[in-house]
Amino acid sequence: MHADSVIYHIKTIYTPCEVPPVKGEKMSLIKEIQDGFIAIKDGKIIGIGEGEGDAFVSSHTELVDAHGLIAAPGFIDSHTHLVHAGSREHEYEELQKGMPYLYLLNRGGGILGTVDMTRKASFDVLYQKAYRSLDLMMSYGVTVVESKSGYGLALEHETKQLRVNQKLNDEHPVRVISTYMGAHAVPREYKNRKDEYIEVMKEDLKHIRQLELAEAVDVFCEEGVFSVDETRDLLMHAKSLGFKIKVHADEIHPLGGAGLGVMLGCSSVDHLMATSDEDMDALALSNTVANVLPGTSFYLKKNYARAKEMIKRGVALSIAGDYNPGSCPTENFQFMMQLASNQMGLLPAEILNAVTLNPAYHLGLAQSKGSLEIGKDADIVLMDAPSLTYVLYHFGINHTKDVYIKGKKVVSDQKVVNIS
Ligand SMILES: [Zn+2]
Repeated sequence: MHADSVIYHIKTIYTPCEVPPVKGEKMSLIKEIQDGFIAIKDGKIIGIGEGEGDAFVSSHTELVDAHGLIAAPGFIDSHTHLVHAGSREHEYEELQKGMPYLYLLNRGGGILGTVDMTRKASFDVLYQKAYRSLDLMMSYGVTVVESKSGYGLALEHETKQLRVNQKLNDEHPVRVISTYMGAHAVPREYKNRKDEYIEVMKEDLKHIRQLELAEAVDVFCEEGVFSVDETRDLLMHAKSLGFKIKVHADEIHPLGGAGLGVMLGCSSVDHLMATSDEDMDALALSNTVANVLPGTSFYLKKNYARAKEMIKRGVALSIAGDYNPGSCPTENFQFMMQLASNQMGLLPAEILNAVTLNPAYHLGLAQSKGSLEIGKDADIVLMDAPSLTYVLYHFGINHTKDVYIKGKKVVSDQKVVNIS
């Protein structure tokens, strides 16, 4: 079969090679192809290996000389709060002085401050801001993004956010997976009436299901936000409606959200800074992926999730960015990988599995994304670095040179390519 294009002279191709969810010590296994090529037809990979891929070349094939760059699958950021209005630098100083994050939230700031701004913002304002962030994420090599609502906290505004997700998915080259998170905080108008708000969300979920605006439902299970019982109630309801489910668990206090997530069959449990050994063991026996978010620990100056211990106990791990205006205001996904290396002590191969195949698995995309294999989408990051380890070592900068999504060049020399 002849390719539409062949990328060759790739110094090293790094790709996961295990069956997902990739758990425990298997996470240190990846495939490395030296001096290789990738052949692409109709947006899919049709050949990959050592050499220049001559067998795939015809007179119509576009030949792309990678000049010794390294290649990896497009990175998958499986936890973001992409769509929101405004920013919260005014709270940054208070956080610096040691004000607890949950205090800001209870005072009506934090998430609720962003809720005010997001409710006031028009669809177009939200869309334009999110589009720019998505461009920036893509320039760092991200080709799939999960995006949660949760700054509307009322059907009208939650659906506004979810429709932004939908339009981004239609119009931006990055694949956007939409998650409903009305249970991100209790809105002001339901203060001291959380039970009522939960019932309202259950009704809203039926509409969102009908409108097909979200694939999954997420709940912030935390002291002062939603309890374990409330989380169970909402997620079981969501599951009965056919949604995938996930949970913000054990971020600040060890409530047992991760264990609950396993019991309910969540696709992922996220944050996990305070997860117990017992819940790690439960995770290891399940197909629920532990999604850790090192950027939030960095920004809030909190401890990191015990990712090494999780891998030692046989858990499947993914790493996500958690881009949001309050606890992780950055689109630099490579910095998350560098934190996972430097602060969590994970190996380069473990990190690669955790930002490609494992998140593809828990987002339900592993058939087409997450590794460089024949038959999968040609979502490829070419990086100007001598090795994958170098990308983790030389931190804080962008190593990406070019990015391809479904075989189309979407980033060229770190600049987003205008495709219209
Ligand atoms: Zn989050």
